[in-house]
Amino acid sequence: MTSAFPPPPSPLEDRIEQLLAAPEHDGHPLRQALADLWETHRDLERRLDRIARVSDAFQSMARQRELGLQERMERDLRRLEKLARISDRYQSMMRDLNVALTEASTHDSLTRLPNRRLLTERLKSEAERADRYGRSFTVVMIDIDHFKRINDTCGHDVGDSVLIELAHAMGAELREQDCAGRWGGEEFVLLLPETSLETAVQVVERVCGRLSGVHVPEPHPTGSVTASAGLAEHVPGTPVTATLSRADSALLTAKRNGRNRIERAPAPTPETTHA
Ligand code: GH3
Ligand code: MG
Ligand code: MG
Repeated sequence: MTSAFPPPPSPLEDRIEQLLAAPEHDGHPLRQALADLWETHRDLERRLDRIARVSDAFQSMARQRELGLQERMERDLRRLEKLARISDRYQSMMRDLNVALTEASTHDSLTRLPNRRLLTERLKSEAERADRYGRSFTVVMIDIDHFKRINDTCGHDVGDSVLIELAHAMGAELREQDCAGRWGGEEFVLLLPETSLETAVQVVERVCGRLSGVHVPEPHPTGSVTASAGLAEHVPGTPVTATLSRADSALLTAKRNGRNRIERAPAPTPETTHA
């Protein structure tokens, strides 16, 4: 900010103006010198005035430019913040989608149990662990007996609900490290790490007990289900697919022997080992 320019005349300036204007001083030897000095002084004042105006204009321009720049920067900043928020939301959506996709590709949509793909992965990694540490585990194949009868008597929707309840019941008897999954249809697989065949039999008896507690509505003839199970203990160093097919054969035996029963697969022979 500049003060008012030119400033109001000082008493000295008033006096000089009066001296120069007074006719009685005409011809005085100092009058011309005073007039010249006065003119130089006025000229300097005018120049100073111009410089002050130019400086004011320059300062005002600089301030305008600064304000413009600041406004643009603030606008750009707001845009960037908006973009960052959109990007955050997008990334969070992508993460949720990814979790949902992973869940969908590894879990059964009806029962929410691990599906055959995840079970196969778990079985493979459990077999690797067993090979590395020389430990064993047991694979169980469970098939619900006469499940078709539920669909036929109560309808497919009731069949679906019963399957969901059976899946919950199955998990209730298992330890955290165990894994129950839907192998397909009304067939389930249990993976029981570090569990011998005989201990697994006890676990499966408890699981089947739970399954028989699931209520099936009328007009189903019995109001409950039974299950058949085939068990095979993995032998370290043998392929896990061989263990699975031994469990499957044991399940078939259980079905053939009248259902609602548990069958153990015999120890592997060279033929059953390389299934
Ligand atoms: P078994 O004792 O020999 O095992 O007899 P089962 O009736 O259980 O076996 P079967 O293989 O003859 O029939 C299986 C039935 O399970 C037929 C099929 O429609 C039904 N099923 C498979 N998956 C589902 C499903 O997701 N929902 C419903 N509601 N039914 C299913
Ligand atoms: Mg069945
Ligand atoms: Mg079946």
